[in-house]
Amino acid sequence: MGQDTAEAGTPAYDDGNIFARILRGELPCNKVYEDDHALAFHDINPQAPVHVLVIPKGPYVSMADFTAHAPADLIAGFFRAVGTVAAQLDLVAPGYRILANAGDHAHQEVPHLHIHIFGGRPLGPMLT
Ligand code: 5GP
Repeated sequence: MGQDTAEAGTPAYDDGNIFARILRGELPCNKVYEDDHALAFHDINPQAPVHVLVIPKGPYVSMADFTAHAPADLIAGFFRAVGTVAAQLDLVAPGYRILANAGDHAHQEVPHLHIHIFGGRPLGPMLT
């Protein structure tokens, strides 16, 4: 897990981050999906007609932290949830984009792993 890792470059998990508080039910969210491994909710500042965030139920900062430290059933369940949410939102046929920011260079705002799902309109070319 993210806490107290001795691995260089892996930030410690901050239990007070906004998404940790949403997971604990301390803050509300506009939920679209939940199972044992993941929670999905609408982004508070949507960048597309559909903009949903999917987060794993565990203390992981980033994709690297998650895939290095989470149990296999959580990793599988989380990625399955991302696909389930895309299907539930009827994005599969028209298409959608997933994105996960990690760290300062990517302007990660909330230090709990989250996958953005964008859809609902043609998204244009991907920008870096
Ligand atoms: P990041 O830049 O970390 O990849 O994206 C963080 C995302 O979380 C942003 O798109 C931002 O709008 C969203 N966000 C920040 N605070 C909240 C919140 O309290 N509730 C919800 N639903 N989304 C939030």
